[in-house]
Amino acid sequence: MRKNGAPLIMPSEAADLILDRTAPLPSETIALLEAPGRFLAEDIVSATDIPPFDNSAMDGYALQSSLLHGAAPSSPITLPISGEAKAGDGPDGEVPAGTAWRIMTGAPMPRGCDTVVPVEDTMESGGNVSFITEAKPGDHIRRAGEDISRGMTVLRRGDRVTPAVLGLLASLNMTEVRVPRKPVVAVISTGDEIADPGAPARPWQIRNSNAFSLYGEIFRCGAVPRYLGIARDTMEETRRLFAEAIQCDVIITTGGVSMGSYDFVPDVLREMGSSIVFETIRMKPGKPCVFATIGKTLFFGLPGNPVSTMVSFIQFVRPALLSLVGASRLRLPEVKAVLQEPITKKKGRVHYIRGRFTVEEGSFAVSTTGSQGSGILRSMHEANCLIILPVESPGAEAGDIVTIQLFGHEEIR
Ligand code: AMP
Ligand code: MG
Repeated sequence: MRKNGAPLIMPSEAADLILDRTAPLPSETIALLEAPGRFLAEDIVSATDIPPFDNSAMDGYALQSSLLHGAAPSSPITLPISGEAKAGDGPDGEVPAGTAWRIMTGAPMPRGCDTVVPVEDTMESGGNVSFITEAKPGDHIRRAGEDISRGMTVLRRGDRVTPAVLGLLASLNMTEVRVPRKPVVAVISTGDEIADPGAPARPWQIRNSNAFSLYGEIFRCGAVPRYLGIARDTMEETRRLFAEAIQCDVIITTGGVSMGSYDFVPDVLREMGSSIVFETIRMKPGKPCVFATIGKTLFFGLPGNPVSTMVSFIQFVRPALLSLVGASRLRLPEVKAVLQEPITKKKGRVHYIRGRFTVEEGSFAVSTTGSQGSGILRSMHEANCLIILPVESPGAEAGDIVTIQLFGHEEIR
């Protein structure tokens, strides 16, 4: 098979080679309510101050602070109430000197007043209000522009549209937003041994889990998954599904890229004039992993074993899809954790070990999920992180500090 001579590259090199070939897709304008989970295609600069005018932060009384000079429980100061402003009222005329103006939260500050005294610190009776404390200018006033000032770059290209971002865009009076369009990602499974869930299956066949775990991963990245079916182990079948897949922005296959005699994906890729960037990575699981470009389409040939498929997706396809959807943050967070059990390992490959972290007295502790066979998909459900042991590591002992990569904590919608 063709794999024999392919150079092994490091996972970090592989990720760099992929990201060198990806960029946000052309952008489209969408309604704000369609935008959760998308990424901004451009910086957002505010055309206005927010709040747009000085307003009261409390229900209470607006007045000139100097009027309360000397106010104390033993010497209250009583003023006549000359008017009222509720939220939504326009600014009324000048507040007459020596009076207080009843004001509600959000109402514009009336002219002639420089402070607000909260209602709970006052006593009102017969059209007058009594104060028992002094007040400082500016107390309980929300200043125009204190949240956002005109000309400020409020949001950056690549920011995810989170709930807070949606609120900010709305407060800037935006009804639409520009975002990169979503990539369409074709998924093809390969192998005579695979049957889709619900389809008739021979007793020696297994169910296609990869297309489904990938579907979920693609969806989570904010891309559009398109499952095209199973390519049986023949050149013709593999060709036929690739002819359909080439319409998409990205093609992902699972299986058919290892050293077996019935692994046709690399041959079909060559036939289609693709340029293969790499084929094998110094990692475990997931050593066979093809990345190629076919014209403008990105191709990922992931290994067939269900865990290998998911780990390879997380390391290589996820950052690529996030780059296409326009995210500025492409890598998963990594933190240090105290290993709770020994892990054996041979030198020569980076190991990604399914782990479960907990936070013990403010620091991370991590254990493995047990057996690390690359067919044990259950362990991907049990794991909340991958323990990364570097290429030259000979293994690790309980108590060692290891790097863990946190996955599955970044829901998009
Ligand atoms: P391959 O890389 O084609 O040699 O596949 C390696 C192994 O992965 C196969 O023996 C299957 O057990 C498993 N496998 C391949 N494709 C799938 C799939 N779509 N769903 C579940 N397991 C798969
Ligand atoms: Mg196969």
